[in-house]
Amino acid sequence: MNVFSIPMRTRFRGITVREGLLLRGEGGWGEWSPFLEYPPDVAEPWLRCAEEAAAGDWPAPVRDAVPVNVTVPAVGPEQAHATVRAGGCATAKVKVAEPGQSLADDEARLEAVRDALGPGGRVRVDANGAWSVDEAVRALGLLDRAAGGLEYAEQPCATVEELAALRRRVSVPIAADESIRRAEDPYRVRDLEAADVAVLKVQPLGGVRACLRIAEEIGLPVVVSSALETSVGIAAGVALAAALPDLPYACGLATVSLLTADVAVAALLPVDGALPVGRPVVDEAALARLAAAPDREAAWRERLAAAHGVRQDRRS
Ligand SMILES: [Mg+2]
Repeated sequence: MNVFSIPMRTRFRGITVREGLLLRGEGGWGEWSPFLEYPPDVAEPWLRCAEEAAAGDWPAPVRDAVPVNVTVPAVGPEQAHATVRAGGCATAKVKVAEPGQSLADDEARLEAVRDALGPGGRVRVDANGAWSVDEAVRALGLLDRAAGGLEYAEQPCATVEELAALRRRVSVPIAADESIRRAEDPYRVRDLEAADVAVLKVQPLGGVRACLRIAEEIGLPVVVSSALETSVGIAAGVALAAALPDLPYACGLATVSLLTADVAVAALLPVDGALPVGRPVVDEAALARLAAAPDREAAWRERLAAAHGVRQDRRS
């Protein structure tokens, strides 16, 4: 097993360095990269995902490429325009409701994104749970107009109850992201009719097959998204997106470029707005170059032992 440490291009989710562990098995490599603050019981499903990948136990794909979105951070309109043009994707996910910014800033960014995409492109916003229900009603009305139509709004409010209340008051479809972190969460979203779209991440939900089962049972369209993995981890997300019977939306898997380096010979980056389905070839020289310092490697071995411990406890 290899522990990697890769600086991020810019701070994201409060972190500047991405760490994780790569497991090698019969079927190839799997990535285990639960965020550092996650306790062993939360990190354990992430390990199932890595083990499934290392075993090569993925369902057969039904498509050979997965469309992805370009992500537009809470930048000014000119930079937003340039980001969309450079991304080459037909769908843009635009960050909104950034602390310290106004709705007018969001509107200007969305107008620029629509201009860059053209009328055929799709625009979604992500508020990361920042709005109250009333704020979201007002904001989505304005932003839907500024964007020339929103595909959906991702996590406009923080809680499932708020999403459910909001969904009854607006015409913009609602996607649940942060509300889905554990395997039981998607069913709550479904039962409260809180969202039109479920954002699923393979590591926190226990792997590709587990997510495929969830998708089948909740009966909502799924957007597969990343947890800021290297190409090895992203490939698991791609495997899920490739195996879903229907894939009506672009996925949030074009995130390898947020890292300053990658473990694959050819990083899993979009070509013409899509990621190829398949397993990346791991670059052994890059693994050596990106190896974590001994103290961090020891910390990850301890985390791994603790995650295994959680399983033992569950069995006994
Ligand atoms: Mg999100």
